[in-house]
Amino acid sequence: MSLAPLDIATLALCRGLIQLLLSGLLLFAIRYDRDGSGPGYWALGFALNGLALTTFVLRQPELNAPLNIINNLATGFGSCALLFGFWRFNKQQPLWPLLALIGGLPIVSLIIGGDLWQNSAPRALITSSSLLVFYIGLLFLLDKPYRPEIEVLFRWLRRLILAYLPIFFWQYGLLYISWLGRELTGPYEIYRAVFGIAALLFTLTLAVACIGLQFVRISAHNADSAVTDWLTGLLNRRGLSLLATQDDARRERDRGVSAVICLDIDHFKQVNDRLGHAAGDKVLQMLGEVIRANVRGHDIAARQGGEEFGVVLVGSDEIQAIQVAERIRQDFSTRSLTLGLALQDPITLSAGVVGIANDRTVLQALDAADVALYAAKRAGRNRVMSASSMAGAGGP
Ligand code: GH3
Ligand code: MG
Ligand code: MG
Repeated sequence: MSLAPLDIATLALCRGLIQLLLSGLLLFAIRYDRDGSGPGYWALGFALNGLALTTFVLRQPELNAPLNIINNLATGFGSCALLFGFWRFNKQQPLWPLLALIGGLPIVSLIIGGDLWQNSAPRALITSSSLLVFYIGLLFLLDKPYRPEIEVLFRWLRRLILAYLPIFFWQYGLLYISWLGRELTGPYEIYRAVFGIAALLFTLTLAVACIGLQFVRISAHNADSAVTDWLTGLLNRRGLSLLATQDDARRERDRGVSAVICLDIDHFKQVNDRLGHAAGDKVLQMLGEVIRANVRGHDIAARQGGEEFGVVLVGSDEIQAIQVAERIRQDFSTRSLTLGLALQDPITLSAGVVGIANDRTVLQALDAADVALYAAKRAGRNRVMSASSMAGAGGP
């Protein structure tokens, strides 16, 4: 059987050109992905791998000829860039020793290989161990997706690597056997074509998955911004309503409790009128930070509109919520003086607090907290009022 058109050089050239093309596509998709530089490193990694494979085709006879050196280095640094990109994409700290090993092995093979060995098999074996470290590093990294939306693609990529590894071992195992000077049995030309096609499909799928990951992240961010307040980064009213429904279901299921706080800045119109809208925005952002600093990760904090904020303290009762609201009230007025605005007195806020069991929904409780909030306003502002007591809890 003749497999002339599928010789290893043709397949390597195809792989190289496809990687260069996909690198360009990744760069194009970066324009729509404002989060992090992970895909930029993927583009660099695929470009370097593409370069390695196109130089492989043009291999020169002497081991340390310039093109062969470029081939070795591009293979090592291409894998480094790809893995580094995955760490950046997944918001993880890169493991530098692993990167040093992946980039270092091809360099080591360059330095010692040219003098020690007369054929290129040992060099290919050392360079391929760098690839093996890359695959294993990637397998571990793909185990911990930083967002649930990317989990499916991570799982499929892990399966792809696990399916490719036996072919990888087979290919380099045969190279090892030939290096030992043993006779290779079997249709070696066909094996080489299988390796070439498998490597081509693997690279293609990896690159397409990278582009897929980028688009999954873009669409996850779009979904986020539909429920996020642009000024403070807290949830907007829609986001609050969505999560409120989940908390209603949880309380019903677990017979649990929660508590809500409604917050409203006092005389905020005057802040805007005297200091300008930009200063007002700065105050709103600061209140967002103060709220975030005083609630736990699973609590729900939202800017409901204008200068009114709503917080659901998941699993807390009314007494705990009064304490949290008090801390927010005090931190807010203290920090208002540090904003560099021309203030004579601190800016203050008022809050209404309501505990909820199974008797009502979060949204109904927020309405009740609003009533308590306006009672706090009527009582003179700069205080926290709870619905059950309607008595001043805290205050200036
Ligand atoms: P009170 O103590 O009774 O709450 O008085 P107030 O002046 O805070 O009351 P009111 O609710 O009437 O005023 C809210 C002001 O909030 C009106 C509007 O100018 C301002 N505001 C609403 N949204 C924004 C915003 O996004 N940025 C800025 N800078 N101001 C906003
Ligand atoms: Mg107000
Ligand atoms: Mg208001």
